[in-house]
Amino acid sequence: MDRRTLLSGGGVLLAAQLLPGEAGARAKSSPATADDARFMQLAIDQAKEGDYPFGAVIVRGGRVLAFGRNSSKRNADPTAHAEMMAIRAFLNGHEPEAFKETTLYTSGEPCVMCMGAIVWCGIKRVVFAASIAQLATRIGQIDISARQIANATPFASIDITGGLLSGDAMRLFPNGKP
Ligand SMILES: [Zn+2]
Repeated sequence: MDRRTLLSGGGVLLAAQLLPGEAGARAKSSPATADDARFMQLAIDQAKEGDYPFGAVIVRGGRVLAFGRNSSKRNADPTAHAEMMAIRAFLNGHEPEAFKETTLYTSGEPCVMCMGAIVWCGIKRVVFAASIAQLATRIGQIDISARQIANATPFASIDITGGLLSGDAMRLFPNGKP
């Protein structure tokens, strides 16, 4: 495998897996791409329509297959987080098996409920904008990271990329700058 191969696609995952101190970790990470930024912008657009400013999209093979926005007020359902709405929308048209090839983009790092659902579904990769630590400065959060959930899940092998367009996601909250 030459350097070019190592730096593209799955090679990045291999490199990430070999980092010192990461042995045994179930969450991997790979750098964001231009496509990632495009899909994250769509998630942020969803967040603008949410009851709280959170949005998500599920993508496979360069196509958006499901959208979700926080609908906890309109649905009178506290579990109607953007990621849960996107997962439910995806299942409207696809078998659960199809999650294995998907990436979920979300404007906020998934909470314990959503990250639990993500690993139960077998989603391949998660890309988030604002971190839980950032979000906690604006709105109540459970202080457990998506990576902690993934690393505590023996059957999960999920790629997590954080921080993409986090400033844009944070600006959706009414009380000030990121
Ligand atoms: Zn959530």
